[in-house]
Amino acid sequence: MFQHQSMKIFPVPIKIKKLNNIFSSHNEKIYIVGGAIRDYLLKIPNHDFDFCTSAVPEKILSMFKKVIPTGIKHGTVTVIFENDMFEITTFRTEKNYKDFRHPETITYVSNLEEDLSRRDFTVNALACDCETGIIIDLFNGFKDLKHKKIRCIGNPKNRFTEDALRLLRMCRFCSKLNFSPESNTLKEAKNLSSNIIHISSERIHDELDKILLTSHPDIGINLMKKTGLLFSILPELKYSSNSYLYKNILKSIKNASRYNYSLIIRWTCLLIYLGKNPDECAYLVNNILKRLKFSNFMKDKILNLIQNQLQVYNFNWTNSEVKRFINKVGIENVELLFELQHCINFNRNATKKITKVRESFKNRYQIIKNEPSCFKDLAINGDDLIKNGIKSGPEIKNILNTMLDDVIDYPEHNTKEYLMTKVLNVNE
Ligand code: ATP
Ligand code: MG
Repeated sequence: MFQHQSMKIFPVPIKIKKLNNIFSSHNEKIYIVGGAIRDYLLKIPNHDFDFCTSAVPEKILSMFKKVIPTGIKHGTVTVIFENDMFEITTFRTEKNYKDFRHPETITYVSNLEEDLSRRDFTVNALACDCETGIIIDLFNGFKDLKHKKIRCIGNPKNRFTEDALRLLRMCRFCSKLNFSPESNTLKEAKNLSSNIIHISSERIHDELDKILLTSHPDIGINLMKKTGLLFSILPELKYSSNSYLYKNILKSIKNASRYNYSLIIRWTCLLIYLGKNPDECAYLVNNILKRLKFSNFMKDKILNLIQNQLQVYNFNWTNSEVKRFINKVGIENVELLFELQHCINFNRNATKKITKVRESFKNRYQIIKNEPSCFKDLAINGDDLIKNGIKSGPEIKNILNTMLDDVIDYPEHNTKEYLMTKVLNVNE
């Protein structure tokens, strides 16, 4: 049926061939579809397989011993076969999209063509027959792969109106593959970018994570800006960043990817140029992170980096200054801060410099690591103060701070006896 295209063959793994045999023995077809085929043709490592099949979910349930009804409402089940999991979706069409994202009507269909036509982009609609390995290309995906284009299947205006998440997916695939959008696809993305506000914060956050984690995140972010998506999602950037700062955002994100730094660093690079100073920046970033439903862990890490962005470790610091730096930043965040400073330093010798900084800090830390540098190292705590008649409240923190200041300069003062005597003398 699909013999007209120049034939390309996907090397179907043995396990999938075996899975296919079971479908064949029940007179059903199964195909690998989407990212795995696209990435194989681009010689990019693949991380997972998506399957589509002629078999309806009930039939799949009867064909295998272990099937998890992962998304059975949408025709997706997870088959556990020889200790591996396979996510398999019945051929389907989607109609009557509501809320700019979810189809109200899903209909199972018997042919692959209809299933492929509901997919977002031509390069994502390549399918491989698990029996023969032949790759099926019904929408000129091969051509778009060759020309490095992301093109909607069918009418882009309709496709983006049906599901606004596709706007961000377009940016993600351009970012991941170093592609650009086909002109009509780009034009409609620009026209419809404000629809992104209908997509849930969790989904937006998830797509932004994926864009930032690609090897060309600057391409995705720049495309988001070009289409209007960036300022719809992060209006704070519009009011705070002039074109000079915007260039810095792109450069630092590009660095974060080049040095293979974590998502914490990539998000910080995107947001660090907000506001007039670290405090204002932290205030704006806190609002953004709350809005996008970040975990407390991510929020704390990013805000810590933003607040401490100007703490630049220096070789000439005294031991006390190094300890105060550790107290402020937290020893567990020092490497993250160095990574951030590496990304936002656009000098040619930034890498050389950060390597020296890391080396020097490591040596200094060996010298002072057993000396007190933060509250938990103090020989006294809040309870000791309360037991000795000091009222609980902000006063406790002030006293402990004064004591910490003392023991950072004079580590030998860090005994309960010395510190309590000092506290009680001062408070007499
Ligand atoms: P990767 O897994 O590398 O991120 P992928 O192309 O496999 O990329 P998935 O999100 O795993 O992307 O989706 C699998 C396939 O399902 C896509 O290739 C595409 O054909 C289809 N698809 C996913 N989301 C949508 C959507 N919102 N609209 C239309 N088709 C979609
Ligand atoms: Mg996938």
